[in-house]
Amino acid sequence: MDSNPPTTQQRKSIDLMQKITSLAKRRGFIFPSSEIYGGFGSGYDFGPLGVEMKNNIKKIWWDEMTKTQENIVGLDAAILMSPKVWSASGHLTAGFADELVECQKCHKRFRLDEIKGKCPECAGMLSKPRKFNLMMKTSVGSVETEASTTYLRAETCQGIYVNFENVLNSMRQKLPFGIAQIGKAFRNEITPGNFIYRTREFEQMEMQWFCSPKEADKFFDYWQKQRMKWYLDLGIKKTALRAIEIPAEERAHYAKRQIDIEYHFPFGWQEIEGVHNRGDYDLSNHSKHSGKDLQYEGYYPYIIETSAGADRSFLTFLIDAFQEIKGGRTKTTQASKEVEVLLKLDKKLAPVKMAVLPLVRNKPELVKKAKEVYKLLKPHFVCQYDELGSIGRRYRRQDEVGTILCLTCDFQTLEDDTLTIRNRDTMKQTRVKIKELVDVLKEKLNTQ
Ligand code: ATP
Repeated sequence: MDSNPPTTQQRKSIDLMQKITSLAKRRGFIFPSSEIYGGFGSGYDFGPLGVEMKNNIKKIWWDEMTKTQENIVGLDAAILMSPKVWSASGHLTAGFADELVECQKCHKRFRLDEIKGKCPECAGMLSKPRKFNLMMKTSVGSVETEASTTYLRAETCQGIYVNFENVLNSMRQKLPFGIAQIGKAFRNEITPGNFIYRTREFEQMEMQWFCSPKEADKFFDYWQKQRMKWYLDLGIKKTALRAIEIPAEERAHYAKRQIDIEYHFPFGWQEIEGVHNRGDYDLSNHSKHSGKDLQYEGYYPYIIETSAGADRSFLTFLIDAFQEIKGGRTKTTQASKEVEVLLKLDKKLAPVKMAVLPLVRNKPELVKKAKEVYKLLKPHFVCQYDELGSIGRRYRRQDEVGTILCLTCDFQTLEDDTLTIRNRDTMKQTRVKIKELVDVLKEKLNTQ
């Protein structure tokens, strides 16, 4: 960030982010929060397609942790916890604070690590840096006293640490084992921005792996590899993903070792997930502050943490899948003038799995048949019905949101009860009997 005009590369990146933000809004993925009141605090709402896609991300992560991996159980802890949790964890002290500087002219505030020299907005002089705590305060109960003050959780993992013993005992676990949790977290970020990359309310997908100190290095390596693989298996380009070892002086206050998984966003390489060896920091501190001995067989377990953001993953998958095809993929004269957008999302991530389309709208038998097919499929898949516009335009409309398959009822359908299935990526069409449709589609989408 500086006050020089953007370079061509920066201009391209800004354009790309604008295109993605506008597609997300236009097609029901993401809307600015409280938009009719002018927006609020750089927050965002997930629309009908956005919530489907975000649920897909969370479900894939949850299944990976609790089904594919061995010995991990789930948890859903409360957002509001005793404020004592946050003093034990170090969040109320300088450890959980960003250094900010204030412009002496326009009074805007910025993170010290994000700017150089002068105010990026008006080139004014900047104040000396000061610490700014990121916890969001709230009060519980009807009387606002010191005793009723608590905080919205700034990370989901503390709910896991304070339940370590409950899970250990109720599930008769033995080390090593993990606890996975997905939930909202809140941080009073000084500079939210880059669309949903940094927001004040966001969702985390965190897994805490409890193990003996002797095995911590081995598991750290294991989890780091597993987490890189997760993104790659879901289609993220290898060249746009990297794992960076964070040196001691830059690590979070609790981390003995830290790897940041970064994605190459249009606005640069940025963290999407952290893998941390937290040592015995959490369980020993909670023991000290709560008076409850959280040792296991005479020692404090070490914790290897994988901490991902559901929203940052969402943005990563959206950007990585976004393709613009100049002149279009089809050679028709009309299409050749346009830029076609293809959202090449993995089939597990795509919010809409299929669309049912009557070839034309002015033939009532075709419309009736297509609506019957839609009714047949709706209980099984996230599915859309669309009859507006030419068939080519409807295919492109579906490509733009990443719909995997388009099912078209044409004149032959009325004769032999078959329809065509068009594949988003290859655009190849195959003909299938309607009575076999549900099974064929389940096989194509691997949902059996
Ligand atoms: P940053 O340096 O970007 O502020 P962090 O290192 O503080 O992130 P962690 O505390 O390690 O982040 O949180 C783990 C994950 O939670 C991040 O990798 C990210 O995916 C997500 N996350 C953290 N803060 C935010 C935020 N303000 N908005 C969206 N996601 C976030």
